[in-house]
Parts: sequence; C-alpha cells; structure tokens
Amino acid sequence: MGKKIIVAGAGHGGLAAAADLSRRGFDVTVFEQKEKKDLGYDWTDIFAPRSLLTANIPYPPRSRYEFKENMTFFSPSKRIGLTQNVPENDLEIKMERRDIYAHLISHAEKCGVKFRYSCKIEGPVMLGSRVAGICLEGGEEVYADLVIDAAGLDSPLRSALPKVCGIENSVGSFERFYVYRAFYERVGDYESKENFQVYLLHEGERRVVWLATEEKYVDMLIGRFEPFSGDEVEKVHALLKKDNPQLGDKRVRGGSFVKIPVRQPLSVMVADGYAAIGDSAFMTVPLIGSGIANSLKASHMLVKTITEDKNRSFTASTLWKYQSEYYRQLGNGYAAMAVMKLFLLRLNPGELDFIFEKGILTAKEFTIGADTTNLQSMLKISFKDFLERAKAVCTDRILLTKILKVGSQVASAFAITAMMPHFYNATAVSKWADTYKAFYAKLEK
Ligand SMILES: Cc1cc2nc3c(=O)[nH]c(=O)nc-3n(C[C@H](O)[C@H](O)[C@H](O)COP(=O)(O)OP(=O)(O)OC[C@H]3O[C@@H](n4cnc5c(N)ncnc54)[C@H](O)[C@@H]3O)c2cc1C
Repeated sequence: MGKKIIVAGAGHGGLAAAADLSRRGFDVTVFEQKEKKDLGYDWTDIFAPRSLLTANIPYPPRSRYEFKENMTFFSPSKRIGLTQNVPENDLEIKMERRDIYAHLISHAEKCGVKFRYSCKIEGPVMLGSRVAGICLEGGEEVYADLVIDAAGLDSPLRSALPKVCGIENSVGSFERFYVYRAFYERVGDYESKENFQVYLLHEGERRVVWLATEEKYVDMLIGRFEPFSGDEVEKVHALLKKDNPQLGDKRVRGGSFVKIPVRQPLSVMVADGYAAIGDSAFMTVPLIGSGIANSLKASHMLVKTITEDKNRSFTASTLWKYQSEYYRQLGNGYAAMAVMKLFLLRLNPGELDFIFEKGILTAKEFTIGADTTNLQSMLKISFKDFLERAKAVCTDRILLTKILKVGSQVASAFAITAMMPHFYNATAVSKWADTYKAFYAKLEK
C-alpha cells in the first residue's frame, strides 16, 4: 500500500488530485462535511473543458454540457455594451455544478479513492511544525503522510495553521467577493442578441450584476465586496426588471449568499505535510472569480510533485516545486490581475464610462476565453500598448494618473512574483512571502 494521503474537503482540485494519486498507488481518502447528494450548488458553472484533460479526467458526456454564450459588458451609464466574440475553439463549457461533482466523484471512485461524507474537519493535527493529520468534529484524529487542503476559501485547516508554517490564515477585505445567485422564472416574450448581460458598477453602486436569459429561466447574480442583505437583492431585482421584462418574480432555483476569493494566489501554499489547492489557495481568476479550471490544472502540478518525491517525505521543501510551477504557469498572471482588480475597484462610475466610451477598453479586451490566464492574454494587447491607448485619449488628468499608476504596479507585481525563490529555502521563502504580502497590503490601503 502506498503512502496515506488525506484530501480535506471535496473541492474540485482535491478530487482531481485524489483520483490521479489513487491511480498511482497512494492510499487516498476524501473527508467532506456535506452528504454526497448535497455537494455543489443549485446552478451552472462555466469552465475550460481542456482543464479536465490536463488533470487526466475524461470529458463528461456531451449531453451534460453546453457551450457558454458571449457576454455583453455594460458601462455604468448602460450607454455602451461591449459584446465578447470568443472563437469557437476557445469556448468554455457550461455545466450544472452537481453534474461536475458527479463526474469528478465517479471518476475518483473508479480510481479507488475512499470517501467519508458528513464529516466536519475542525482543524489540523500538528506534530511539531508538521501537519500530521486532521481533527474531526467529535474529537477523532486521522493521521496521514500528507494533507491536501481542498476545503475552500474559509478552510478550517489553512485558517488554523500555526505561524511556524508561514501560511496566511485570513483573507483581506477586498479579497473576497460576496455573491447572491438565483434563477428566476422567465416570463413574456423576449428576443435579444444580448442574452448574457454583465453590468459593471450597476446603477452607480459598487456592485457587479449579471443577468443571463436562458431558455427556461433567468439567471441573476449580484456581487459586491461587502456583505449585503435580502433587501438589496429585492432592490436590484426590481431595477433589473425595468430593462428586462423577461425577468419573473418567482425564484425557481438557487437563492443563496456565497463567497468567492478574488485576490492574488496564496503567498505560501505548502508546509511540511501540507499543500493547499483551489479556493483554499486562492486560485480563482481575480477579475472574474472562476476557479474550477485552475484547480484542475493545479492538481496535475501537485500530483507530479508528489510522485517525484521519491522519499515520500512531503516536506515544504519537496512540495515547493508545486508552488513554483503554479506561479510559473498561472499564478504570476493572476497576481498581476489582482492589481487590475484593485484599480477597477477604485474607478468611479464616470471614469469607467469614460474608459468604455473612449475605447480605452473594447469588446476585444472583454473576450475572455478558456485560455485567458494572464493580463496579456486578457487585454489582447501588450500592457504598454494599453497604456499608450489611454494616454492618447485621456483628457481626464486624475484618471490618467490612476492608469499610469496601475501600469507601474502591474510591473511591480510581475517583478515580485519573478523573484519567488526557485528552490526551497525557509528563510528565503519567508522573506519573499513578506515582500509579496506587504506589496498587496499597501495597495489595499
Ligand atoms: C456564485 C458562484 C459562481 C461561480 N461560478 C464559477 C464559474 O462559473 N466557473 C468557475 O470556474 N468557478 C466559479 N466559481 C468559483 C468556484 O466555485 C471555485 O473557484 C471552485 O469551486 C474551486 O473551489 P474549491 O473546489 O477549491 O472549493 P469549494 O468549492 O469551496 O469546495 C470546498 C469543499 O470543502 C468542503 N469543506 C469546507 N469546510 C469543510 C470542513 N470544515 N470539513 C469538511 N469539508 C469542508 C465544502 O463543503 C466543499 O465541498 C463560482 C463561485 C460562486 C460562489
């Protein structure tokens, strides 16, 4: 029997890693607080299907997914709507969250992964500075050679790791997005090419709203950086109905408040006996909050690192390759995107209208496809050209200053991630992590 691995929480990346590791002879058990039938949310998700193949998982049956529609992004005044034009070969797929889970779990089961459902993890079991297992509600302790933390944004493991592990426990105020999502009855006649609308700084408020008109329902999502109540949901719903008579009153699915990490990746993702993946390591795309594809891609990097650790010591030092690879392939781009997120957050509605109306951002830049993994691929132009475009048309000195400032901040983010130690050395890693954290802490002020 191979070494014993615990996957804490049935997060997407954790499930993918569990399957691949079990297939390679490791003894893997997933501990999940929910019952199997309650996993996931009552709504659909969009992700890049190729990430499944990267994680050595087959495609789901064709009947289980559709291709995502192009989105139209509206400026705060709603005078301009920029519609994406994602090429066919770069389209993401849309799938019920429950079907994604069913697909990942049935694959993991076939690979020999064991599951313990209805099992709440309370925190890590530490032996000195090493994570040696997990502590379950009721006091049971389960030991393992490695714990993979796939328990999401508020992971009970990451948030309780002692300081000696060098891992950030908590999340800053502009780093989590509070979201409400529900599907409403679709009513009346409706015909539009803009079926998937996204409103930025909706009605001049610091919130993003999307409204996707599907065949059988209308999907409404509201997001902001602070918690909000049902009263706001009702207010936004009523405002949306004015422009969108197809939006009915009856809620038919969903209807919950949830949180998404929208920030730079975790500064240190590994410790002795521990590796974080998915939302627990903040692997979402900071500008849009998608995290499924990245978690799946990261699972491949983690499995490779684990299998290459011939002594099976699973220390911070041997697991560092995983973090290093994640940052090289994805994390450095997302760290820069996190800077852009803070920039967009500080624009007022007038400034964002100006950016739309003067063509500083165009439909091309909003064409986010399956392989949009960094700022360059998102902007479709070099960042330098983006700044040139802004300089040419920007008569507003305050806005221009903000744009130029973000240019230098993005460059700094790239420089800092490039300085991340390639090989593990506790002192060097800790020094680098302090610089990285201090950079974002300063930006958030
Ligand atoms: C409204 C909304 C819409 C989204 N849309 C998309 C989208 O379209 N595309 C996309 O790619 N991403 C989307 N995301 C983000 C996506 O859900 C995550 O990035 C992705 O699921 C990766 O997170 P995860 O699997 O690591 O963690 P999670 O999905 O949070 O899963 C963590 C698991 O750990 C379990 N767990 C937590 N605590 C404990 C505990 N104490 N004991 C035991 N188990 C525990 C949880 O029950 C859960 O099953 C969306 C998120 C939200 C909220």
